[in-house]
Amino acid sequence: MSEKVYQLAIIGAGPAGIAAAVECYLLGMREIVLIEKDENHNATIRKFYKDKKRVDKDWKGQTVELDGNLLFLDGTKESTLDFFDEILEKHSVELKTHTEVQKIVKRDNHFEVMITGSSILAKHAVVTIGRMGKPNKPDYKIPGTLKKLINFTLDSCSENEKVLVVGGGDSAIEYAVDLADKNTVSICYRRENFRRANPTNQKDIADALENGSVRALLGVNIVALEDDGGKVSVVLDEGETETYDRVVYAIGGTTPSAFLTSSGIDIEDGKPVHDDNYQSNIKGLYVAGDITQESGGSIALGLNHGYAIANHILKEKL
Ligand SMILES: Cc1cc2nc3c(=O)[nH]c(=O)nc-3n(C[C@H](O)[C@H](O)[C@H](O)COP(=O)(O)OP(=O)(O)OC[C@H]3O[C@@H](n4cnc5c(N)ncnc54)[C@H](O)[C@@H]3O)c2cc1C
Repeated sequence: MSEKVYQLAIIGAGPAGIAAAVECYLLGMREIVLIEKDENHNATIRKFYKDKKRVDKDWKGQTVELDGNLLFLDGTKESTLDFFDEILEKHSVELKTHTEVQKIVKRDNHFEVMITGSSILAKHAVVTIGRMGKPNKPDYKIPGTLKKLINFTLDSCSENEKVLVVGGGDSAIEYAVDLADKNTVSICYRRENFRRANPTNQKDIADALENGSVRALLGVNIVALEDDGGKVSVVLDEGETETYDRVVYAIGGTTPSAFLTSSGIDIEDGKPVHDDNYQSNIKGLYVAGDITQESGGSIALGLNHGYAIANHILKEKL
C-alpha cells in the first residue's frame, strides 16, 4: 500500500470529476489525484457521443448558469474533449488512467480508495462515476444469437441497414437523425411525442419525420425481440412484428448502486444521499455529476457540482 496521502481523490474523470479537481486546484489545493478506469478522461463522451456531435450546454432543455471557473460553451464532441484536455493540462492534476476503483473505505482520518491489488489514500474523496457504465437495458430478454445486432452506442452501426432506435430523449433523437444519413431508420418511443427533448432536437426530429428520413412509432412499447433468420424481429405491444437489421437502445443509464453501497453511501429513491454541498452521509466523501440526478444530468450541471464541492472542502480547511 502506498503511504502517500493525497488531499483529494476523485473517482471518475468525466466533466464533474475534472471540475472538482480543477476547481480545488484553483482554490490552492495540491496533491489531487483523478482516477479513471478507461484509457483516457471522459469515457462517456468518447463512447456514447457520435463523432462531430453537437454538444449543447443547456442539455435536455435545462438552462444552467455556470457557477465556477470553467467556461464551457456549446460545441462539438471534439471541441468538448479538447476543452477538457486543455484544462487538465493547464492545471497539472494527476490523472491515473486504466485504474478501476472497486470501493472506498473510511479509515480514521482518511479514505482508502481500493483498486485491484493496491489502494490510494486521500483525505477527501469524490465519487463521479456517472451512469453510463451500465446503460439501461430493456426488461425483456435479448436472444443470445442477436447480441451483435443490439447496440447501446453507434459504434457497430454501418450503412444501408434497416435500423430501429429505441428511446425518445435527446440521445435517441440524435442517434436516429444521424443514422438516417446512411440507413433506413425508425424510432420507437413509448410516449406520444418527443417533448422531453431539447428544442433543437425536437426540431430536428420533426424535420426528419416530415421529410421521411425517419419514421416514428409513438406510444408503442416493445414486448420482445426474436431471431428471424439472423435479423431482429421486434414484437410490439399491439401484437405486430417488424424486422430490422439492427436495434439501437438509447434509454439512459443506471445508478451504480453496488459501488455506492459497498462504500457506505446511503441511497434513497435510486440516488445517493447528499447535502447541498454534495457531501454524502459520510463526512469528507462527496458525490457529483450524473449519479446525483434522477434521469441523467448534463456537463454544465457536473461542472457546477465540482465547483460546489471544491468550495465546501476548502471552506472546511484542509
Ligand atoms: C449520447 C449522449 C449525448 C449527450 N449529449 C450531451 C450534451 O450535448 N450536452 C450535455 O451537457 N450533456 C450531454 N449528455 C450528458 C452528459 O454526457 C453527462 O451528463 C455527463 O457526461 C455526466 O458527467 P459525469 O462526470 O457525472 O459522468 P461521466 O461523464 O459518465 O463520467 C464518469 C467517468 O467515470 C469513469 N468511471 C466509472 N466507473 C469508474 C470506476 N469504478 N473507477 C474509475 N473510473 C470510473 C467512467 O469511465 C467515466 O469516464 C449526453 C449523454 C449521452 C449518453
